[in-house]
Amino acid sequence: MVEIKTPEQIAKMREAGLVVAAVHAATREAAVPGATTRDLDEVSRKVLAEHGAKSNFLGYGGFPATICTSVNEVVVHGIPDEKTVLKDGDIISIDAGAIIDGWHGDAAYTAFVGTGHAPELVELSRVTEESMWAGLAAMKLGNRLVDISKAIESYIRRQPRPATGKYGIIEDYGGHGIGSEMHMDPHLLNYVTRKRGKGPKLVPGFCLAIEPMVSLGTAQTDVLEDNWTVVTTDGSWSSHWEHSVALTEEGPLVLTAVDGGKAKLAEYGITAAPDPLG
Ligand code: MG
Repeated sequence: MVEIKTPEQIAKMREAGLVVAAVHAATREAAVPGATTRDLDEVSRKVLAEHGAKSNFLGYGGFPATICTSVNEVVVHGIPDEKTVLKDGDIISIDAGAIIDGWHGDAAYTAFVGTGHAPELVELSRVTEESMWAGLAAMKLGNRLVDISKAIESYIRRQPRPATGKYGIIEDYGGHGIGSEMHMDPHLLNYVTRKRGKGPKLVPGFCLAIEPMVSLGTAQTDVLEDNWTVVTTDGSWSSHWEHSVALTEEGPLVLTAVDGGKAKLAEYGITAAPDPLG
């Protein structure tokens, strides 16, 4: 069962989404050489408190922090700690969330720590982010869930291959419904497989978190002994980008983007829905 939201509920999710965007901005500034991933969690806690938002990550299945900090070969679900000190040349994916009045927002980005990153890392993050936008642009009335998976996968496969061979589209994790809970039906794959049908029709009030994860090598992952940290099985570095999006009568609204997705969706010839918060 997919939870369909009213315009009022989408407005609440937009509030939560803007708090997530504020966490992104603050953690991005703090992700510098010498900072620990624990420092970044402190920054996130502060922003959530300033906005009167609750954390959806803290305590989720026992998760001990308000953000996930995934460095280099860590794909997702890295736990902030004092031992992990960011170094020049690292890449870090930061996944953040917020709850306002019971409504959830969830979004992630990849940042470059310091300078001098190899062009293939810059391209990895660009391809991952842009595949997310291709997926967000497929959030259209009349489409089905599979059209989003198809848009993400085909964007990645259209790009020039990295020197390492091929991009790995991580298979074990994907996007999800979001609303009165952070993770809801349906599960959204970042690739198309015959084993899955076309999925539900996209109708007004349908909300998703769209989140491709891409590596410079394998599509396969392992979970470390802490039962959270997800790494690529071949140690290849990976990128993770995510936005929460609502489909409305007037088109998609990217809930966790400051401009509601206006600028990027325009590149796909799509007009973002008006911001319910003005
Ligand atoms: Mg998510």
